Amino acid sequence: DLSPIRRALISVSDKSGLIDLARSLADRGVELLSTGGSAATIRDAGIAVKDVSDITNFPEMMDGRVKTLHPKVHGGLLALRDNEEHVAAMNEHGIGAIDLLVVNLYPFEAALARGADYAEMIENIDIGGPAMIRAAAKNHGFVTTIVDVEDYSALLAELDANDGATTYAFRQQQAQIAYARTGAYDAAVSTWMAASIGVETPRRRVFAGELKQSLRYGENSHQQAAFYTDGSDRPGVATAVQLQGKELSYNNINDTDAAYELVAEFDPTETAAVAIIKHANPCGVAKGATLVEAYQKAFDCDRTSAFGGIVALNQPLDAETATKIVEIFTEVVIAPGASDEAKEIFAGKKNLRLLLTDALPAPRASITAYKQVSGGMLVQDKDVGYVGMDDLKVVTEKAPTDEQMQDLLFAWKVAKHVKSNAIVYVKDHATVGVGAGQMSRLDSANVAASKAQRMADELSLDASLAKGSAVASDAFFPFADGLLEAAAAGATCVIQPGGSMRDDDVIKAANDAGLAMVFTGMRHFRH
Ligand code: 5GP
Repeated sequence: DLSPIRRALISVSDKSGLIDLARSLADRGVELLSTGGSAATIRDAGIAVKDVSDITNFPEMMDGRVKTLHPKVHGGLLALRDNEEHVAAMNEHGIGAIDLLVVNLYPFEAALARGADYAEMIENIDIGGPAMIRAAAKNHGFVTTIVDVEDYSALLAELDANDGATTYAFRQQQAQIAYARTGAYDAAVSTWMAASIGVETPRRRVFAGELKQSLRYGENSHQQAAFYTDGSDRPGVATAVQLQGKELSYNNINDTDAAYELVAEFDPTETAAVAIIKHANPCGVAKGATLVEAYQKAFDCDRTSAFGGIVALNQPLDAETATKIVEIFTEVVIAPGASDEAKEIFAGKKNLRLLLTDALPAPRASITAYKQVSGGMLVQDKDVGYVGMDDLKVVTEKAPTDEQMQDLLFAWKVAKHVKSNAIVYVKDHATVGVGAGQMSRLDSANVAASKAQRMADELSLDASLAKGSAVASDAFFPFADGLLEAAAAGATCVIQPGGSMRDDDVIKAANDAGLAMVFTGMRHFRH
């Protein structure tokens, strides 16, 4: 299954590593063919190369739209070397076999990232490149296809190990990568087109990902798993740099994402904020005058659950906060930077994973979110809904005080990041009880209240942490019972979407209990 490499066609937009590769191939006795710009680069380096236009007897034309689309090229890539008729056709038409294809495509994705206009995007759609890649990869029985600069060294190692030939396994592996590349390329083109012509639900949709990391296992040890990036370079867990600690697990990545997305809701120029996450739900979130104060307040919401948690910061990690964090076992810390002193403090805790990004995730960026279901995929805009002071409607006799209003808005932001049914008690810019993922809103209110009580007991306080708190509900109270439970726990003001058939009952109950309540008109289910 060895295929000797005697003749190679090189056509690359990204010229990095090109000269070294060309020289290494030439040194191994490989004849080189190449297209305009690539050939010039190779020739300038003093390496012998033939122009494809001399083989095809056609000039490159139409601004490069037609360079390699010719039977002399495609016949050389596609011919089966062990098929008499194919070989006869090659001889009859003077087609030379091409054993190795090295192509990387016009930088469509890079043009997209820099916001190129429509005409420029169109010119960046590579035609001949994908055609050659698909042809060579189809003929992987004989032909080797390389589409990534990072695979040049693997190719040379393969040639050295096999006396100038490649193995079938290698060609097959590279063919798989090649088809994923052309697939992802067309996915990028089609996604861009859908967006630029304003089609929100295209009849056909494609997804593409690049492997970032193979994971040891998935949610559980019997599940295989891997982490893929979507090529967007958006700040977040997928683009974070890990400074120290063990390899991230599937659950770490999922939880870190939840933590960072939540804390990014708080503008770092206005306030320090910290979120501590367990199983994708917050067990403590707080704002503070300093980061360390925010951390302490978040930690005090539920010290038991915070053990082994994921901590996200909205400002660079400083020494004081680092010192506080290492007092207990924490799985991951993610932040938009860290001071040298903070890094040194963490260095003493080898197992603690520290992830750093250049910036916080953009909380209002319009992003498409996918969820797999049996036999399909659900697609929606990410929930970037935002409610400010001006959007709130006071529905009770009592209106919230300014302080209560601040806590209500804080509670609302947190509730958006809690699995439904979500009930969140907040006092002084910190959560004091979080009820997540219950099947009834009343149960969530109960869970949150009992956590606030338990923490008060732990701190030897005579009243529940929820006493005098603001409470948020991610969706409307269908009955008054959940609201009354919150009032009994000590809440004095409420934020919720409103819109229940029984809003009148719920408002009456709130008035009877002396609560102030505001409606947001927007709900934040999260499943
Ligand atoms: P070069 O810099 O060598 O002139 O061009 C290299 C690029 O041209 C590669 O990205 C390759 O995929 C692309 N390419 C090769 N043949 C064709 C063709 O026939 N049509 C188009 N549109 N692009 C081609």
